[in-house]
Amino acid sequence: MNAVLPADPARDDILAARPTLWLNPLYRQGAIETSDLPISPADVQRAHMNWQRLAPLLAACFPELESTNGEIRSELVELKELREALGYRTREFGNVFIKADSHLPVAGSIKARGGVYEVFLFAEGLARHNGFLTDGEDIRKLATDEVRTFFSQYTVAVGSTGNLGLSVGIAARALGFKATVHMSSDAKTWKVERLRKLGVEVIQHEADYTTAVENARTIAEAEPTIYFVDDEQSRHLFLGYSTAASELAGQLDERGITVNEDNPLFLYLPCGIGGAPGGVAFGAKAIFGDNVHAFFVEPVQSPCALVHMMSGSRDLVSVYDVGLTNKTEADGMAVARMSAFVATVMREMLAGVFTVADNDLFKLLRMAWTTQRQKLEPSAAAALLGPDFIVRHSEGRRFQTQHSIEDKMPRATHVLWTTGGSFVPEEQFRRFLDQVGSLS
Ligand SMILES: *Cc1c(COP(=O)(O)O)cnc(C)c1O
Repeated sequence: MNAVLPADPARDDILAARPTLWLNPLYRQGAIETSDLPISPADVQRAHMNWQRLAPLLAACFPELESTNGEIRSELVELKELREALGYRTREFGNVFIKADSHLPVAGSIKARGGVYEVFLFAEGLARHNGFLTDGEDIRKLATDEVRTFFSQYTVAVGSTGNLGLSVGIAARALGFKATVHMSSDAKTWKVERLRKLGVEVIQHEADYTTAVENARTIAEAEPTIYFVDDEQSRHLFLGYSTAASELAGQLDERGITVNEDNPLFLYLPCGIGGAPGGVAFGAKAIFGDNVHAFFVEPVQSPCALVHMMSGSRDLVSVYDVGLTNKTEADGMAVARMSAFVATVMREMLAGVFTVADNDLFKLLRMAWTTQRQKLEPSAAAALLGPDFIVRHSEGRRFQTQHSIEDKMPRATHVLWTTGGSFVPEEQFRRFLDQVGSLS
């Protein structure tokens, strides 16, 4: 079925599972103002207000959020020794930062922005609907025994390769819900064990992520007391992620970094089904418009956003359709078919996608640890190669020319979104570090 991918400089590399950069030919200026998108910048604003309203409840449920008054935030870390190690020393690489969602509180991955948001919003709505919360009442009432007992009649369910299950399971249990997580065969054992310790029912499927989600959805639809977090279609997840962009904008501002026509911003976002990177990219477009360029990154065997968006097809194209295996150690990105919702929103807003080999992920993971003690999981390490592709790869240079930014590159800012890692148990992390032995 190789015919589904059109002629493109990246095509041969994609089909041969070699790391490459694909530029989205539909990427265009002003795409966010297109009125027929199923989502708008006003929705991001509303998501902000929702987070703010939920913050006191989050602080009440998670002691680690007391210091931020219930805000779930990550640090913006400047690359220093890691910058040298990655070969980004020269001026043409501009400013380079890590957005360390690897260390997000509550869930230890970018899923703390999506899963936690959706579960808490659901809880608030359910409580209001059943008279447990009225206008003006303190939202922390949802953490009382009375309301928790009410919540315990409901189950929150989700399908996951690991991290979404963790975040949804943690959030649901914190409020007293029952929780069921349908895991794909990619899920790491430690994620399963951690959930079971929290009292989450984990159902392990001998199948991929798409199948795990389908199973979860079918079971949930038949039962009104089950709320299903639908990673393939959820607006809530997407909007929960989207508010990360204003957090970033504030952090860049604090450091005196300008983003405008002469100072472009590049985001490198690890992509599984597309919700997390799509949400962040959308939020960033709402703030920085044409001055931000969002690139997704995917494993060479699981580039689902790449193959679908490149195909130009209406129907979703999966990585299997082009002869790839969806086999990767980067469990956060082990997704064969992207979200149709995200594909629609990102169609003209995504600058491009680059791919990475698993071997390189382990090499990068080790580099991030030995140089700057950044603890990453393999998926998160994928973002680190972004500047290399944009500055040095032939397609990256073509991108610079297309957008007339060759001369502006020394003033550009690159943000490598490291999406998970801090929850990885020590022993598992050691094994990740050791995997690098076999690499060139
Ligand atoms: C979930 C996840 C991603 C990708 O997010 P999607 O919403 O599936 O695209 C990337 N990295 C990590 C560590 C993740 O957990």
